[in-house]
Amino acid sequence: MTTRAVIVGAGGLGGPIALSLARSAELVIVDHDVVEMSNLHRQLQFTAADLGQPKAVRLAAAVTARGGTARGITAAWTPEAAEELGGDCDLIIDASDDPATKFGVADWAVANGRLYVIAAALRHGGNVFAGVPGVACYRCLFEDPVDAPTCADAGVLGPVVGAIGGVAAGMALGLLAGDRTYAGALLAFDDLRTVPEPRVVRFAPRPDCPACRRAPISPLAAPPVRVAEGP
Ligand SMILES: [Zn+2]
Repeated sequence: MTTRAVIVGAGGLGGPIALSLARSAELVIVDHDVVEMSNLHRQLQFTAADLGQPKAVRLAAAVTARGGTARGITAAWTPEAAEELGGDCDLIIDASDDPATKFGVADWAVANGRLYVIAAALRHGGNVFAGVPGVACYRCLFEDPVDAPTCADAGVLGPVVGAIGGVAAGMALGLLAGDRTYAGALLAFDDLRTVPEPRVVRFAPRPDCPACRRAPISPLAAPPVRVAEGP
């Protein structure tokens, strides 16, 4: 059976994620933006020939050129449009630069019983959340989007997006293969210049989490057992 994955965001994180998954899944890549000169130094999937072109379409072409199957859709991913934007996927990855989109992707995945990965990079670090139906969700941990600075405002070190994107892709492959080692955990990389190992943040489902309450496979069916932080 063909594995299908949606990647939301075709920029610094979406690039390495899509190229890493090129031979492992049929991809739908969703991004509303076009390639700009200021993107080229950390969005290595693009060259000057792509300037002004839609990122989703150009990244899909890069995947196809490497023997993969990908469709690029130039649109902003929203929960309302999710069904049209690869709604039959097995797994969805958020590689966007927008907190509201991250929560939208996570909530949609929880509500529809899909695997999901939420990736974020900022300045010198980032984090990757591995979402699986039936365990604590992204909203259990973060509750609501905060007004955080974006990469466009605060900047991100070029190699950081490659590293975080690689971890996100690896996590996606593990989840698709049935590996639940990090199910419902957040891997937090505080500063990749000095500490390459992540903090693995594990937490119990939040009893009043609105996403988990609505989920067809909800962790709230069983009582929360522990709140712990590792390793
Ligand atoms: Zn939850």
